[in-house]
Amino acid sequence: MIVGVLVELVNKSVDRIFDYKVNDSLKENIKIGIRVEVPFGKQTLEGFVLSIKEDSEVDNLKYIIKVIDNDIVLNKELIELGKTMKDNTLATLISCYQVMLPRALKAKKKNNIVKKYDIYYRLSKNIDYKFNSSQQKIIDCFKNSDLVKKDDLVKISKSSLNTLITKNILIEVKKEHYRMEYNNKNSEIKVLTPTQEKVVSAVDLNKSDTYLLYGVTGSGKTEVYIKLISKVISKGKTAIMLVPEISLTPQMISRFSEVFGNRIAAIHSALSEGEKYDEWRRINRGEADIVIGARSAVFAPLNNLGIIIIDEEHSDSYKQDTNPRYNAKDIAIIRSKTNNCPVVMGSATPSLESFARAYKNVYKLLSMPNRINGKNLPKVTLIDMNSEIKRSKSHISIPLLNSIKETIDNNNQVILLLNRRGYSSFVTCKNCGYTFKCPNCDITLTYHKTSNTLRCHYCGYGTKVYKKCPGCHEEAVSNLGVGTEKIEEELKELIPNAKVLRMDFDTTSRKGMHEKMITSFKNHEYDILLGTQIVAKGLDFENVTLVGVINADTSLNIPDFRSSENTFSLLSQVSGRSGRSSKKGEVIIQTFNPEHYAIKYTKTHDYIGFYNHEMEIRKKLKYPPYYYICYLKISSKDYETASLESNKIKKSLERNLKNTIILGPSVANIFKLNNIYRYGIILKYKYEENLYKTLNMLIEHYRNNNKVAIDIDFNPNHF
Ligand code: ADP
Ligand code: ZN
Repeated sequence: MIVGVLVELVNKSVDRIFDYKVNDSLKENIKIGIRVEVPFGKQTLEGFVLSIKEDSEVDNLKYIIKVIDNDIVLNKELIELGKTMKDNTLATLISCYQVMLPRALKAKKKNNIVKKYDIYYRLSKNIDYKFNSSQQKIIDCFKNSDLVKKDDLVKISKSSLNTLITKNILIEVKKEHYRMEYNNKNSEIKVLTPTQEKVVSAVDLNKSDTYLLYGVTGSGKTEVYIKLISKVISKGKTAIMLVPEISLTPQMISRFSEVFGNRIAAIHSALSEGEKYDEWRRINRGEADIVIGARSAVFAPLNNLGIIIIDEEHSDSYKQDTNPRYNAKDIAIIRSKTNNCPVVMGSATPSLESFARAYKNVYKLLSMPNRINGKNLPKVTLIDMNSEIKRSKSHISIPLLNSIKETIDNNNQVILLLNRRGYSSFVTCKNCGYTFKCPNCDITLTYHKTSNTLRCHYCGYGTKVYKKCPGCHEEAVSNLGVGTEKIEEELKELIPNAKVLRMDFDTTSRKGMHEKMITSFKNHEYDILLGTQIVAKGLDFENVTLVGVINADTSLNIPDFRSSENTFSLLSQVSGRSGRSSKKGEVIIQTFNPEHYAIKYTKTHDYIGFYNHEMEIRKKLKYPPYYYICYLKISSKDYETASLESNKIKKSLERNLKNTIILGPSVANIFKLNNIYRYGIILKYKYEENLYKTLNMLIEHYRNNNKVAIDIDFNPNHF
């Protein structure tokens, strides 16, 4: 027997498949998709068995050393999926398989992650022995169950237990112990409203189709997902539910375990590596049939998949921005085809790409335009900071301050969003909010400290920094940025009796903190929840009647063609946290750009209006969804080399790609990172026959070049 093994070469992203012979003693454990240890030069490596055959063209094959685990780690579906993924992303096959598995299963990482066991006993078949009373008590424990936990028997009598063991009356059984525990089933699915019911019955569970559920905040999307999953489970199938990491809150997990009990497995970053490994094994063995998790849960090794749900589908967290650069939404659609089951993507603010597909009937559109039980969406007020800033020295305007006070006086709660999306390497006028944009690309220019210039990282346009603002002619241009601590201080001064809970990625990084904060805010231990993007998503607090946005504009100024979309979506999501119960909700948004369409459409909760407006712009400037984008990043330790090779690559692309717009090379957004210089080339295309062939050629060309690295990112989030 010969096996083809894809080996994991540590620190090298190359694909190498080698043939190995198999000892007779190991033959019966060999299966495709199993991990083995193999000799490789002087080292020992781990790898995946991808093929089994009778002979090989290579002579003098070595023998595999051992089989690592008894279970298959890559089933047939995942093996094929990895190959498709490699073809679509141009990453290595080994990286595609590695990303599917918990870290505990990766070479060099696993050593400190162990399985845990519980000890049980079973009764041996032939007992003819007179028991004393405490021995009999122990024996009686086996009346109702075949296996009894050691701990329970020790409690009765340790010495009797030992006697029964030495006499071979009780036989030890070791069972794997999983670290996670879930609630027992203790709740039923809510009775759905007619609108929810209609959506559920519109989904054909026996067909591979993609649905887009466009439902406003508070329209009850979660219950729709739960109902769909329960229908799938009742047919004996399994389900994956993807959510952005940030909204994978205890609230969400406990709702699912209330309904489905311990048939769920939840995979998220708050779990330890050991816990993740346990959850993965439960899934792999068919002991869980509903998987809830962030991006990588799309690879859950479930058999007989019956539905994949993607909540908050507009979230950029579904795209991985390191190799392999896959999008979980694409993977979901591939798996839906293999398993002949639907994908349901939901959002109150669908991504333009998805909505455009729904518009063209590529995806099936499902709508829930109203909140549950006819509740209204909150009233949104815009505060023009251009005039407010003259009246108040604080970041909090007088109208917002008054509303906060009033809300607290009425014993209700407030959420305040400080919008600090992404990096803040742009300059803006402190007086009027003016930002510098590229005349060619309509993209905010990025500030480069070393040269004190502003540059467009799409096309390369550059200009020097002016002190005087072209908008208001004040000398007020600066590198603006305010943190949550500063706002917290101001709140303490302005409203001394208010209890403020600050939540951002710093204060929640410690394990369990996020959960604790959410619970204490829910229990009304605080009046104000102040935070960054983390407070905008998925939270459901019934006492929140005011949402305030300190600075709507920061995310508008990010140098990204999606900045309007991201701003509209963020403001709509955070607005959606207000007035979710019987109480009326209010939203106050502070902005320097009250006339900007991304902000104006938030006021009227008009997603469709925003969509139509933004689509016009995308069309004019040839951005997605009208064009696809592929980003090439060329990096080198040597400045000259980076620039020289980038230009060579551009020329070669121009020769080969006749239907593509090629922009750059321009300095990447973060030009110099860890002393590595980075250039970017942007490809825009609708249909380019030669694209994959050309890019593969480039990858091959640079594969063994250790001075230059190229990275390829299809449909990137950022560049
Ligand atoms: P979305 O995810 O669309 O923003 P949720 O799923 O969080 O909305 O639902 C909003 C609120 O409505 C939640 O408190 C939820 O418990 C409640 N809800 C949803 N469906 C129903 C229903 N059929 N009957 C009663 N309450 C419901
Ligand atoms: Zn430009």
